[in-house]
Amino acid sequence: MAEPPLQKSLLSGLISDDLLLQCMHCGMCLPTCPTYNVTKLESSSPRGRIRLIKSVSEGKLEINDTYLNEISFCLDCQACETACPAGVKYGAIVEAAREEVSRQNLEPLKVRTIRRFGLNFIVANQPILKIVARLIYIYQASGLQKFLHNIGMFKIMGGNLGAVDQMSPKFSKRFSSDMMSEIYTPAEPVRYRVLLPLGCLMDVAFADINSDTLDVLLQHGCEVIIPRNQGCCGSLHAHNGEQKKGKELALKTMELFKNFEYDFLISNSAGCGAYMKEYGHVFEDTESQSHEVTSDENFPVMFSSKVKDISEFLYETGFRAENYTYEGRITYHDACHLAHTQKITLAPREIIKSVGGVNYTELNEASWCCGSAGIYNVARYDDALNFLVRKMGNLKATGSEVVVMANPGCMGQIQHGTDKYDHKMEVLHLATFLNRAYKKKKN
Ligand code: SF4
Ligand code: SF4
Repeated sequence: MAEPPLQKSLLSGLISDDLLLQCMHCGMCLPTCPTYNVTKLESSSPRGRIRLIKSVSEGKLEINDTYLNEISFCLDCQACETACPAGVKYGAIVEAAREEVSRQNLEPLKVRTIRRFGLNFIVANQPILKIVARLIYIYQASGLQKFLHNIGMFKIMGGNLGAVDQMSPKFSKRFSSDMMSEIYTPAEPVRYRVLLPLGCLMDVAFADINSDTLDVLLQHGCEVIIPRNQGCCGSLHAHNGEQKKGKELALKTMELFKNFEYDFLISNSAGCGAYMKEYGHVFEDTESQSHEVTSDENFPVMFSSKVKDISEFLYETGFRAENYTYEGRITYHDACHLAHTQKITLAPREIIKSVGGVNYTELNEASWCCGSAGIYNVARYDDALNFLVRKMGNLKATGSEVVVMANPGCMGQIQHGTDKYDHKMEVLHLATFLNRAYKKKKN
């Protein structure tokens, strides 16, 4: 028997008839949409997708190839939300549509494998992720990866496998969770007590960024708590149509962190911070409230209210880096989940500019998606490359030696661009940039 069409309940309240009418007379989001910019087709625009999703949810349109393509072509960058005067929650709409596509097994096998095996089995289980990360580290560090590329093995295998392999981050020799203690105290009197999540991929592939984040927080007078046995916060799942798994991981995260007392929870990954800030909203339905941590309906809201991006926290608590030094021309790329979802654009720029010696140049189209977008650059490599080419052109025009950002996904994608196009530019996380500037001053 055929699956029922997209459940109306899934989208109830998100797309009303009035909203659709308003969209018809508006279209302000269209010029900001990267996919519409490529095709110039209404169906590749936020407004066009809203109409498609509504039609499917009401059973007026069968899910067809155009629909599936447009739902996966969307970057979920949420630039349209920033532009929308009516406050349309487009991200929630497209994520609900993706969940339904996933539920009905309608996506290509490659994407289904990434979701079910990559996200739900590996990324969602930190002990398994650590085993896989260790194997990838050996593959990368032993020279086997380089050897396979040199002999043209990936060309024989075909597709974009070689490019995707080169794009994957360099996995860490030592994982954050194996190196870091549970509590760190600053040299100066404690000003704030903060909790630092290590993340899933951040733990195993960006351990140096976690260390830099810890150092910067200590420099700012924070006592830093790093709970043991952390795992994924569910962000990658929720933003890629696996909301059930996302919620399950969010519950685990809250269950673990509720045992600690802290003023702020500091995120150094824009996607994770964005999702943890949404927990309060995600668990507002009555069904969720049967769980221990959500039976107090205020707990998820309170949890989310303490989540701060590192740049947001530093800026709001008066951190200025006048005593830090970094000589050079620097620019900044906005991660979509920081600029469009969390609306944080000023704080990182002001912090960078406050570092002594910095020659800051604003990046044209800084908040235009780089094509990373969660699993997008693996699932749709060619499209992601188009967006990356545009980003690399803008980066080159700044003449900067360093580009700073606050999201590991963007870092991997832009690093891939600098390698692929032999572009001499260093890609740094904000925490790494600040910690280097601090050390230069100290020396
Ligand atoms: S999320 Fe980004 S790609 Fe998708 S419709 Fe909105 S602006 Fe376009
Ligand atoms: S800006 Fe908002 S209201 Fe206008 S077309 Fe886009 S989604 Fe609709």
